Amino acid sequence: MKIALLAGDGIGPEILREAVRVLEVLRGEGLKVETEEAPIGGAAYDVAGDPLPAATLALAKAADAVLFGAVGGPKYDALPRDKRPEKAILGLRKECDFFANLRPATVFPELAGASTLKPEVVSGLDIMIVRELTGDIYFGEPRGITGEKGSRMGFNTMRYTEAEIRRILHIGFRTARQRGKRLCSVDKMNVLETTQLWRDIADEMAPEYPDVSLSHMLVDNCAMQLVRNPRQFDVVVTGNIFGDILSDEASMLTGSIGMLPSASLDADGKGLYEPIHGSAPDITGKGIANPLAQILSLAMMFKYTFGRADIAARIEGAVRKALASGLRTADIAVAGEKTCSTADMGAAVIKAL
Ligand code: NAD
Repeated sequence: MKIALLAGDGIGPEILREAVRVLEVLRGEGLKVETEEAPIGGAAYDVAGDPLPAATLALAKAADAVLFGAVGGPKYDALPRDKRPEKAILGLRKECDFFANLRPATVFPELAGASTLKPEVVSGLDIMIVRELTGDIYFGEPRGITGEKGSRMGFNTMRYTEAEIRRILHIGFRTARQRGKRLCSVDKMNVLETTQLWRDIADEMAPEYPDVSLSHMLVDNCAMQLVRNPRQFDVVVTGNIFGDILSDEASMLTGSIGMLPSASLDADGKGLYEPIHGSAPDITGKGIANPLAQILSLAMMFKYTFGRADIAARIEGAVRKALASGLRTADIAVAGEKTCSTADMGAAVIKAL
C-alpha cells in the first residue's frame, strides 16, 4: 500500500499529522504501508514556483492512493489563476482521471445537536453521494457569451457519453453493494434528454447488480427529500452539476464541516482522499482544527482503494469512541462546552484504536 501524503497549506499539515499518527499505529501492528510526502498548493508554489510540481504529480501517479490535506490561503489570492493553490487539486483530479467523487454525509449520534435540522431527523444519518466529476455542463462545448450589450446570450452544453454514464453508475452500484444495497439515481429526465439517457442506462445496468435495489428521483424532489427525510437514502448517484449542489446540501445536514471526508476515484479504485473543507486560514497555527475529517478520509482510503473495510470500520469506531468520551474541538462544541486541541483529539482516536 503506497500512500502519497500531500499536506498542502493552512491547517492541512496540522490535521494530516494526526492521520499519519493513526497510520503509524497500524504500521506498528505489521500493516505494510509505505508513505512519501511532497509539497502541493501554496507550499509547493513557495518552494518550486508551481502549485503542482512535476515531482509531486509523479509521486501521486505512482502511489495507490493520495491522502490530501487542503490548499489555499490569503497569501496566494493575488497570484495569476494558473499559479493559485486550488489549481493543484483540479490538476491532480484531471491528470489522474479521478472522475468519481464520493461524499458521505454522516451524523454521529453524539453530534446530532450540531445540525440545523431537528436531531430526530438527522441522528444516525449515513448517506453517500456519488458525483460524476469530469463531465456534464461544466465541461461541455460549445459554451460562452455572445452578442452585444443589450442582446447578449450566455450558453453552456449539458452532455454525457454513454461510456461516461456507465462508468460512474458502476461506481454507484459498487458503492451501494458495499453499504446498504440501495442506489438512488438522480436526474431531470422530465426536461433534459441527457438525463433521460442517464436513466435509461441505469435501468439497463440494474440486472448486472441483482443484489442492489435501484430507484430514480428527480433532482428537485431529491433536494426536498434531503431536508424532509434524509435517512431514506443510502447511496445517491448523479451527474456533476446536480451532485455539486446536492452534496453541499447533504454535508450541511451534518452541521460540521470539520467532520466530513471525501474520495475521488479512478476506474481502478485508485483515489485521492481529502476532507471536504479548505485550509481554514482563520484558525491556522492555533492547534484547534478538527482532525476528524482527515482521519475519516484515511478510513475511506482503506475501504475504497485497499479493500480493507475492516480497518476502515476500526478507524471509524475509534472516532466514534473519541466523540463518545466527550472530546470536542471548537467547531463541534455547543455553547459552553469545553473544547480540546487538534492533538488531543488525535490522541483520543489513537487511544480508542
Ligand atoms: P474553509 O473550509 O477553509 O473554512 C470555512 C470555515 O470552516 C472556517 O471558519 C474554518 O475555520 C472552518 N473549518 C474548516 N475546516 C475546519 C476544521 N477541520 N476544523 C475546524 N474548523 C474548520 O473555507 P474557506 O474559508 O472558504 O477557504 C479557505 C481557503 O481554502 C481558500 O483559499 C479556499 O480556496 C481553500 N479551499 C481549499 C479546498 C481544498 O483544498 N480542497 C476546498 C475548499 C476551499
